[in-house]
Amino acid sequence: MKVDFSKFNYMHDELEEDIKVAVTKVLESNWFIDGKELENFEKKFADYCQTKFCVGCGNGLDGLTLALRAMGVQTGDDVIIPSHTFIATALAVSNIGARPVFVEVKEDYTIDPTKIEEKLTNKTKVIIAVHLYGQCADMDEINKIAKKHNLYVLEDAAQAHGATYKGKKAGSLADAAEFSFYPGKNLGAMGDGGCVVTNNQNIAEEVKKLRNYGSIKKYCHELKGVNSRLDEIQAAILNVKLKRLDKWNEYRNRVANRYLNEIKNKKIILPIVSKTNYHVWHSFVVRVEDRKKFQEYLSENGIKTLIHYPTAIHKQKAYSEYNNLSFPIAEKYANEVISLPMYYGITNDEVSYVIDIINKY
Ligand SMILES: *Cc1c(COP(=O)(O)O)cnc(C)c1O
Repeated sequence: MKVDFSKFNYMHDELEEDIKVAVTKVLESNWFIDGKELENFEKKFADYCQTKFCVGCGNGLDGLTLALRAMGVQTGDDVIIPSHTFIATALAVSNIGARPVFVEVKEDYTIDPTKIEEKLTNKTKVIIAVHLYGQCADMDEINKIAKKHNLYVLEDAAQAHGATYKGKKAGSLADAAEFSFYPGKNLGAMGDGGCVVTNNQNIAEEVKKLRNYGSIKKYCHELKGVNSRLDEIQAAILNVKLKRLDKWNEYRNRVANRYLNEIKNKKIILPIVSKTNYHVWHSFVVRVEDRKKFQEYLSENGIKTLIHYPTAIHKQKAYSEYNNLSFPIAEKYANEVISLPMYYGITNDEVSYVIDIINKY
């Protein structure tokens, strides 16, 4: 048997007609940027996230960057980020000229709140909490620290569309949140896309200006903005796909529960799910000491896997100024994590096969 890592066609086959109608409508409207589809999506996605505002932008990285700028982060400021995350979290900070300050993560792969305070300086402005792999970070503890030290909290929810924490939606858990609509995310466009959601009107208005050359009124530029917009075709596709997001996340949960209940192998460390969280399983990540051997074994048996992520950010060439730093947990996880097949439409037989092969390892 062959098992893919991820596939879009089960999602898209079901919606093919609706997507064609939506895209045709944009074509016939003759309006491609900043129109009705975007307005409609921003309203619907804000409702979905239980927030007042949603501002679309070009991609998740820009969402993070623009949200940080809207929070007043400038050159020379410090921003707290987890040591184990996708590189975009750090790039958003360094792109502004601010300094990413790494904090180790817990066993559940989210930032360890007990290790944040020791990293704060008088230049710290924001804590970024990443809901890595689809599970929310420990938001009550993080918000408590932020309140005490007068900091903003930004959720990097790029992998957590629809996740909840104590019954509240990812996106509504801090001062603002960024989502990515990269095709492979739980809610994906057919190209790049992203947004910022928030209950803070000032942040929403700033991001709205920044994404469009620093301007709300045409040719009147209040800020040195950028060009980062969610176009009408992507917004139209997202409007169609958003209706199915909960169903797709439930499917991912059924797959994850089978992995959690049926993988029984002492060499494999399974992911931890907090009781207060609804995990949306962007990735199902296990840890194995001899990862290379395990990945080769799965590959020989027709099972595709990926590594999220193979090198800790502070060990990347792009961050050579931090290469001498040591974050033992992040480095250990970078060496041991491996993501199993996880997507809407993977069959029961395929899941059984993956479990069987892993149990025989
Ligand atoms: C995907 C991702 C981003 C960036 O999103 P893009 O749309 O690819 O720019 C940021 N943070 C995390 C955790 C991500 O997984």
